[in-house]
Amino acid sequence: MHSPDGNERPRPKPGVLEINPYRPGKTGAGGKKIYKLSSNETPLGASPKAREAFKRVADRLDIYPEGPATALREAIGMRFGLDPARIVCGAGSDELLSLLCHAFVGPGDEGIYTHYGFAVYRIAILTAGGTPVMAEEKDFTTDVDAILEKVTPNTRIIFLANPNNPTGTYLPFSEIKRLAATLPRHVLLVLDAAYAEYVTRNDYSPGLELALTSENIVMTRTFSKIYGLAGLRLGWCYAPASIADALNRIRGPFNVSTAAMEAGIAALQDVEHIDKAIAHNEKWLPWLEQEITSIGIPVTPSVGNFLLLHFKSTQQARAADVFLTQRGLILRAVDVYDLPQCLRLTVGTEEANRLVVSALADFMRSKDGSRD
Ligand SMILES: *Cc1c(COP(=O)(O)O)cnc(C)c1O
Repeated sequence: MHSPDGNERPRPKPGVLEINPYRPGKTGAGGKKIYKLSSNETPLGASPKAREAFKRVADRLDIYPEGPATALREAIGMRFGLDPARIVCGAGSDELLSLLCHAFVGPGDEGIYTHYGFAVYRIAILTAGGTPVMAEEKDFTTDVDAILEKVTPNTRIIFLANPNNPTGTYLPFSEIKRLAATLPRHVLLVLDAAYAEYVTRNDYSPGLELALTSENIVMTRTFSKIYGLAGLRLGWCYAPASIADALNRIRGPFNVSTAAMEAGIAALQDVEHIDKAIAHNEKWLPWLEQEITSIGIPVTPSVGNFLLLHFKSTQQARAADVFLTQRGLILRAVDVYDLPQCLRLTVGTEEANRLVVSALADFMRSKDGSRD
C-alpha cells in the first residue's frame, strides 16, 4: 500500500519532530588537562565501595539483572524509611520522568514545566504526544501562582525541580505544600529532587512527606549527582501505589543493570562519602559565589552544587566560554534554557574552583571581558 503523498518513509508520531534533542554538557577536546564543570557531576567521584561493587559484577555479565530491583529498592527503603513496594527504579531519573509521561500523558493532554525548568521535562511531554505548557518564573525561581494559572481541565502532569537546574534556586516546603493542596486531584505533581542532598536550608524538603500521603505526588531522586554514578544511569522514585503499579507495567523488564543496582546499594551505604561531598560543597559553593560576584559577574544564589553566572550580554557569555575552554575549563552554555547571557558552573575540586576564579578574573580584564 502507498501513502497518499507517495512518501513511504516511516514517520514519527506528532510531537517528535518538535523536540530539540537534549544537548549534554561538553566533555572537552583532547590534549591538555580538562576540568569538566558542565554536568553537575561530583568532584569527589563515586564511593570506593561502589567502585568495588561494580568490579565484582564483571563475573556475572552474562546473567540478566534481577528485574524488579528488589535488593536495591529494599536498600533505598531502609535508608529513607520507605515502603520498597512504592519505589520504582530507572536507568537514571530521566527514564522515570519519561515513563511518567508515557503512562499519564497522551495527545490533547497538557504538561506544565517552568520557564527555566530542567530541559528533559518538555522533551518527555512531547515524546508522549502531550502539549508542553510553560509557567513563568519570578527571579529565576519557580512561581507557584504562575503554575496554578496554567492548570486547565487538560492538565495531566506538572514537573518541578526543587532545587531547579540550571538556576540553583529552590522553593521552601511551605510553597510546595500550597501547590499540592490547591491542585486538582487528577493532576500528577512530579517533585524532582535530584540535588536534595546538597540543600542545607531548614525550610527545604524534597517532598517525601507529600509523596507518602497523597495519591497524585511522585518524588524522583538520582544516583547521578552526589552519589557520583552518572555513568551507570540509576535513579528512583517514590510514588503512590497506583502510580508505581502503572510504571511497573510499562517499564522495560530489565531497565536497571546489575552493575547499577550493586553500585547503587554500596553507594547508599557509604554515608561517610556523602558527608564528605556535602562538606566540600558547603565550603566551595559560597566561596565561588563570593569570588565570582566580586569579579563583577553576578550569580543567582544557589542551593545546589552549581552556579548560574550572568554576563552582560550573550556576546560576553560566549567569549567567556571560549576563554575558559582554552584553559581546559568546561562550563555549560544554557542557551536552550533561554539564558544565552549565562553560563552554568559546577562546583569542582579545589584546584578547578581556583582555576575558574582566576580565569574569570583574567577574562574580565581582557578586551572581550571589559567590553559591554
Ligand atoms: C541531573 C538531573 C537529573 C538526573 O538525571 P539522571 O537521569 O538521573 O542522570 C534529574 N533532574 C534534574 C533537575 C537534574 O539536574
